[in-house]
Amino acid sequence: MGTKDTVMMDNNSKPNIAFIGLGNMGAPMAENLLKAGYTLSVFDLSDAATQRLEKAGARVAQSPKDAASNAQVVISMLPAGQHVHSVYLGDSGANGLLAELPKGTLVIDSSTIAAADARTVADAASHLGIDFLDAPVSGGTGGAIAGSLTFIVGGDDDAFAKAEPILAVMGKNIFHAGEHGAGQVAKICNNMLLGILMAGTAEAINLGVKNGLDPKVLSDIMLQSSGRNWTLEVYNPYPQVMENVPSSNGYQGGFMSKLMQKDLNLAMQTAKDTHVDTPMGAKATELYATHTLENGDKDFSSIMGRHDASVLF
Ligand code: NAD
Repeated sequence: MGTKDTVMMDNNSKPNIAFIGLGNMGAPMAENLLKAGYTLSVFDLSDAATQRLEKAGARVAQSPKDAASNAQVVISMLPAGQHVHSVYLGDSGANGLLAELPKGTLVIDSSTIAAADARTVADAASHLGIDFLDAPVSGGTGGAIAGSLTFIVGGDDDAFAKAEPILAVMGKNIFHAGEHGAGQVAKICNNMLLGILMAGTAEAINLGVKNGLDPKVLSDIMLQSSGRNWTLEVYNPYPQVMENVPSSNGYQGGFMSKLMQKDLNLAMQTAKDTHVDTPMGAKATELYATHTLENGDKDFSSIMGRHDASVLF
C-alpha cells in the first residue's frame, strides 16, 4: 500500500498483518497467525528472531514501515513503553510508523506498558484516522505457544470488533476492559495482585517449613483451606511440590522476575499518579526489587529463595 490510501477491511477475507517484536512471546504468537493462514510481514531488531519466523513462512521486512507496507493490521509485542513509543511515534514524536500508515489501519499493541503511554500512542493514532488498541496479555510463554492467551483490551468498540477474530487465533479469553489504556490498567492490577500472592504464598510455605512441616503437605492443606490461590493451584513456588512448574526446574522458563518487577513498577507509578493507596503492592515491589538484583532472569516464583537461598541453586 506504500502511499497513504485508506485501508478497507473486508469482513470476509483475512487481512495482511505486520508483526513487530518477535521475542519469547511475539514469535509463538506470530507463528500461530501463520498456522491459521494469515499472511505476515515481520520485523525485529534481532536477526535470530526474524529467521525463526522466515522458516515458518513469514516475509522478513527491513523496517517497521516495510513490514506494514501491504498490511491492514499491525501487531506489536515489544519489551517496554520506550520501545512502543520509538516504533510508533519515532524520536520526534511524529516520525514513527503511525505517520506512514494509511487511514483505517488497525494497530494492536500487546506489550505491557504504562496506560499513559498507551493513551499517548492512541491519541496520536486517532488524529491520523488510525484505530489503536492496547491489548496486553496474560498466560506467559506457555499460553503464547498454545494459543490460549488472555487478551485484555482497551479501545473503541469498532476496533475491538475488528481485532477479535485475529486475537482469537492467539488467545482463548478476550476481554474488552474499556477505553484506551483500560487494557493496561487491568493488566497491571492483575499482575500487582499476582506479585502479592506469590510473595505471600512463599512466605507462608516458609513459615510452615521452618516449623517442621512438609511443604507439600502444607500446600495441600492450604489448597483446601481459605488461603487457596492461583499460585497454590498451578504454580507452587517450592521446589518439587508440583511437576512441570519453574520451581521444579531450577526456576527456568516462565515469567522472569525482572518482568514482574517492571509490571509492579508500572502499578506503583499508576497508583502514584492517581493518588491511590497500594501498601501491599508497594511491599511486593520492594521485595521484587531486591530479589531481581541477583535473580532477574529466574522465574518470579524464585522469590521463594528470599526465605531459603538453597532453593535457588
Ligand atoms: P522479549 O524481550 O523476549 O522480546 C521482545 C522483542 O522485541 C525482542 O525480540 C527484541 O529484539 C524486539 N525489539 C525491541 N525493540 C524493538 C524495536 N524497536 N523494533 C523491533 N523489535 C524490537 O520480551 P517478551 O517476553 O516477548 O515480552 C514482550 C512483552 O510481553 C513485554 O512487555 C512483557 O512484559 C509482556 N509479557 C511477557 C510475558 C512472558 O511470560 N514473557 C507474559 C505476559 C506479558
